[in-house]
Amino acid sequence: MGIPVRQSARIGWYLARQRMAGRKQFPLTVELEPLFQCNLACAGCGKIQHPEHILKRRMPVEQAVAAVEECGAPVVSVAGGEPLVHPEIHLIVEELIKRKRFVYLCTNAILLERKLHLFKPSPYFAFAIHIDGLRERHDASVERAGVFDKAVAAIRAAKARGFRVTTNTTFFTHDSPETVREVLDYLNDDLGVDQMMISPAYAYEKAPDQEHFLGVEQTRALFKAAFGEGRRRRWRLNHSPRFLDFLEGKVEYQCTPWGIPSYSLFGWQRPCYLMADGYAKTYRELIEETDWSRYGRGRDPRCANCMAHCGYEPTAVLDTMRSPRQALRSLVDQLTPSRRSGPRPQSPEPAPSLAAARAPLSAPRASSSPRPRERVRP
Ligand code: SF4
Ligand code: SF4
Repeated sequence: MGIPVRQSARIGWYLARQRMAGRKQFPLTVELEPLFQCNLACAGCGKIQHPEHILKRRMPVEQAVAAVEECGAPVVSVAGGEPLVHPEIHLIVEELIKRKRFVYLCTNAILLERKLHLFKPSPYFAFAIHIDGLRERHDASVERAGVFDKAVAAIRAAKARGFRVTTNTTFFTHDSPETVREVLDYLNDDLGVDQMMISPAYAYEKAPDQEHFLGVEQTRALFKAAFGEGRRRRWRLNHSPRFLDFLEGKVEYQCTPWGIPSYSLFGWQRPCYLMADGYAKTYRELIEETDWSRYGRGRDPRCANCMAHCGYEPTAVLDTMRSPRQALRSLVDQLTPSRRSGPRPQSPEPAPSLAAARAPLSAPRASSSPRPRERVRP
């Protein structure tokens, strides 16, 4: 299943309206965190370190919908914690879809097969499944054996039922250009997911593992090598070409934290999804009363190594809008037929072994057919 044309068109129209209205600050995507509890405890996670009484809280459906409506972003990324632990998560999703928001439900997929019946396929809806590497790497990252196989089974089950399935992969210092290529090749070619998001991990102060976060130069070197020899063009990456340029060091940006605001049980988080310097009661208060000039690389030491998509993808999108050349490049990228064609049919077989998935990159894969490609904006 390719990206719904209506999503690209609606977001393009939304951006054009902001520009025509002369708005300087507006949201592209809202990160909605309706709970902080998770059924995993990943070493690199900075979201779940709250006292028990906070972890037990669940955001009511009405509160979640009201926050999204107030902010007006066309895309909602439902995160957490683990959203599928929330007993009313399907109702939140349903209400947002009714309001024609494009919803990405971010999940570690442990509960996905069990809860799949609660959701309906829709051009407004996609699962975004956390996959940090192939079996060994992913299970080490989430600190539990068997989670990779469960996630792969859930991806196949969701695809078989007609859902759009995307993935979200975070990279750390354990990764190399080879491991980046291996996991993206596997998701793109073998599993045939609809889109893939990638990001270097943000160095959360609260994360138990502080030793494996990438620095700026390490991130650039990693992606430059991984994307080399034209590889980046054949993966269905859910990022603007300029953000990918940024990751591999071809362009330098400051972040745009207000472009992807974050709403949780505590309110609107200042300044971004990654750092919590207090909370605003309303989106308007967040925008008007946050001193945005305090944040970003060179301004706040906590931002020094951040290259996360939630901070820099909005900058890349705004840069693309300002430049006719980049806008054309982005359009051509989206319309290239080979990049819009859907992934190949799902195999009913289980995930290939790690050894098979790690076959030399230059060797043709046993089942290699023309590799499916597509692109879409966040
Ligand atoms: S699955 Fe996500 S929310 Fe849960 S512990 Fe891991 S990184 Fe944190
Ligand atoms: S660089 Fe921007 S997006 Fe990243 S942590 Fe700092 S304020 Fe947030």
